Amino acid sequence: MLAASAESGLSVTESDTDLTLVLCDDYLSPELERVDAEHRAAGQPWLLTRLCGYEPWIGPFFRPGEGPCWSCLAYRLEQHRGYEGPLQQALGLDRPLVRPIASLSAGRVMAAQSAVLEAAKWLAGLRYADQGALRTVDTLNLRTRVHAVSRIPQCPSCGEPGLTGRRVWAPFVPVSRTKAGQGGGDRALSPDQLLRRHAHLVSPITGIVPVLEPSPGAPEFATTYVSGHNLAMRERGPAGLRAQSGGKGLTDTEARTSALCEAVERYCGTRHGDEPVVVDTLRALGEPALHPNACQLYAEEQFRDRERWNRSGSPFHHVPEPFDAERPVEWTPVWSLTGRRQRLLPTSMLYFTSTPGAPGPYADSNGNAAGSSPEDALLQGFMELVERDAVALWWYNRTRQPGIDLDAFGEPYIGRLREGYRRMGRDLWALDLTSDWGFRRSWRCPGAPGPQ
Ligand SMILES: [Zn+2]
Repeated sequence: MLAASAESGLSVTESDTDLTLVLCDDYLSPELERVDAEHRAAGQPWLLTRLCGYEPWIGPFFRPGEGPCWSCLAYRLEQHRGYEGPLQQALGLDRPLVRPIASLSAGRVMAAQSAVLEAAKWLAGLRYADQGALRTVDTLNLRTRVHAVSRIPQCPSCGEPGLTGRRVWAPFVPVSRTKAGQGGGDRALSPDQLLRRHAHLVSPITGIVPVLEPSPGAPEFATTYVSGHNLAMRERGPAGLRAQSGGKGLTDTEARTSALCEAVERYCGTRHGDEPVVVDTLRALGEPALHPNACQLYAEEQFRDRERWNRSGSPFHHVPEPFDAERPVEWTPVWSLTGRRQRLLPTSMLYFTSTPGAPGPYADSNGNAAGSSPEDALLQGFMELVERDAVALWWYNRTRQPGIDLDAFGEPYIGRLREGYRRMGRDLWALDLTSDWGFRRSWRCPGAPGPQ
């Protein structure tokens, strides 16, 4: 590395540097926290690089006071390596697991020269957006990928650690927004606009959404995308490991946007550790605390019969234990749109966790949504509850509902779906499931799994 730097005319000094080039075996090495803190304190930029492995990493340049710090990046990296935590704990390690590193000298030299090139351009005063990104060089196919590194506003090192708490405690007052034009539905941005604005969230290394790709094995007439592991299913244990987030749409862009939003929704619904929490009993908290069953709406009969029911039912139909008003639990504030004030609900109902077997009441993703604005998310989440309520009334009561004449819509995509399903030996029909809410929404393909 020293030779490579010298060959490109960079003088290497021990102190008084304009830029520090830091080489590591792993971007999560704990020593990097100190390196970052020292550089932030001194206001000195540094470039992080990993030469080893089949895929060397170059960048980002960390610029104190501008953009993300190493802790911001490390937080994202850890999200994708969550499986390592239990192993590290079991082995009593205070650092990432050391894995065999496969690399050839040619790959390492190429990466070293690339890092020196980046450093030389930086020192010459050249500035461009990708300097803030992490670049990977796949030595198997020589493809380079750029992974955006975002600053985390609530980062404990460079941001405001109390930000999440302040936002959760603040009232949520919806505002009126203009709807996007064609293809936007009841949303503030069109799917295309939303995708462009938030595409940087997708990366298996630095993103909160690991992938956005066509669903493998999906029939060609249905536009569907998957967007990585479904975080809402982690507390369901091993069975949840295979669950994926995804989305559908009439166009490629709509399906991609839908899959992106579902993955973001699940990420935002996950507990990250900085949520405001009060530990107390329901009885001691009194009126501001909502009894969990005011939201869960189980009948007494369901609680009484829960053991027999839980032995036979699917995890989606699990009935939890009745809530114990004398048991101290964590509570988190929620803003009541109807009461226009803060109430408290058990934290375990509000965020997904990765702890299988944790005591309930549990969070679930019904009524969760992400959108281009808080109001979009509010509307979509509410409509999902209306939809599921209407489906449940029909499905569990086995009511007879009127059919809908699909041809009356004159939509070519309906013909495409019908023909595609016909080739698979399935019929396509639609029922009017309008309930006492008065909203009309119903779609179902017979043969698909029942409502969940
Ligand atoms: Zn930071």
